[in-house]
Amino acid sequence: MAFDLAKKKAFVCDLDGTLFMGPNPIKPAVDFVIANTKSGRFRYFYLTNNTSKCPDEYMKKISGAAIPVAEDQILTPLITLEAYIREKAYKSVYILASEKVTEHMAARLADVEVRFGYDPEENELIALTYDKELTYDKLAKATSLWNMRNCPPSPMCPVRTKNQTPVDFVATHPDNCCPSERGPIPDIGGMMKFLEITNGMKPSHVFGKPSPTLLAPVLAQFKPEEIAVVGDRLYTDKAIADNAGVDFVCVLSGETTLEDLKAYKGTPPAIVVETFNRVEG
Ligand SMILES: [Mg+2]
Repeated sequence: MAFDLAKKKAFVCDLDGTLFMGPNPIKPAVDFVIANTKSGRFRYFYLTNNTSKCPDEYMKKISGAAIPVAEDQILTPLITLEAYIREKAYKSVYILASEKVTEHMAARLADVEVRFGYDPEENELIALTYDKELTYDKLAKATSLWNMRNCPPSPMCPVRTKNQTPVDFVATHPDNCCPSERGPIPDIGGMMKFLEITNGMKPSHVFGKPSPTLLAPVLAQFKPEEIAVVGDRLYTDKAIADNAGVDFVCVLSGETTLEDLKAYKGTPPAIVVETFNRVEG
């Protein structure tokens, strides 16, 4: 069915490749969002899989482009990670994250006294984020923890912890690369692969796009036909729209090219536009 802009009340906007290219705003798209935010024509949410940054950094980035924004408009897998830790009642988490993101998570979970740090006897969860402060030491600690707690004893792996309860492992999102003005740069996908090829460890859950749980706050306020996801990636942005049963607006300002769309085997996007503002024709 054709895309009907008149029916839409909420847009869930991807950021990198859709509203921004690296640090720079994609001006026509941003101007469109500013005008319609000010007039109240549409409600906007900002969806990012990028867990190298805290929500307040996204608010700064978005408001820095002159778009009015509140914290409840930012949707990031760090929210899903927090909900997961609460649901499982984990108290000791080894997180691979920047210092700022680690502090953010500790502050968010201070009320349930979750400890963040490497503790082979106590850790219940290894949480991998898009850690731009990743070091060899962090990767080695993650695999050691997994070896000592989850692998059968073997001459290759002689050191065991007293606590032999398997440690859980989750990743905040599945992206292989992050678009930048200098082309694709590594994201969390390579980090997951690094761990997997070392000792076979694989996450029990991968949050973020395309998991529709990230859209729960939007689906609680609007009907699916009133919502559209806007993004530049078929395997994350279109997938989350499909999984949530809402329209997908594909922009060509980021990763996906017309050639990619021609080769794409799934259902086509509801509409394909050069930049987000062109949904208006
Ligand atoms: Mg993107």
